[in-house]
Amino acid sequence: MTDSDCLFCSIIAGTTPAAVVLETEDVVGFLDVRPLFKGHVLLVPREHVVTLPELPEHLLVPLFASAQRVASALTSGLGAQGTFVAMNNVVSQSVPHLHVHVVPRTKGDGLRGFFWPRKKYADGEAEACAATIREALS
Ligand code: AMP
Repeated sequence: MTDSDCLFCSIIAGTTPAAVVLETEDVVGFLDVRPLFKGHVLLVPREHVVTLPELPEHLLVPLFASAQRVASALTSGLGAQGTFVAMNNVVSQSVPHLHVHVVPRTKGDGLRGFFWPRKKYADGEAEACAATIREALS
């Protein structure tokens, strides 16, 4: 299923130009037009899915296998030392079509914007929080 108003559906269809790096039956990968670093790739399912919780199970492996392949290619092909792999869901998600960012990283590259201020758990709070999440998972 595609969404005629969706930018990434339009890239997948070839209507909006993009520097495509990977095409599989289920997934398309292209360069982010405003990269954190050169070689920053976005991976999208061909199917119009907005967030990770909505991703059908049959697309989990194709999407994350593609992330694994691109992460390897950024180190072997571009000379990155490592990668940062992430996705925004709803909050800070500027394009409502699920996309995995695969960003090439090198020590000392100065990427700090992705690291939000950290919190501290009070005594017992981490266990209570973990219990709430376990309950939601069960
Ligand atoms: P997010 O903010 O996590 O939703 O990421 C959306 C990403 O899409 C941003 O990093 C944008 O730079 C990128 N982006 C927006 N428009 C395009 C486009 N036409 N081609 C490639 N990347 C895009």
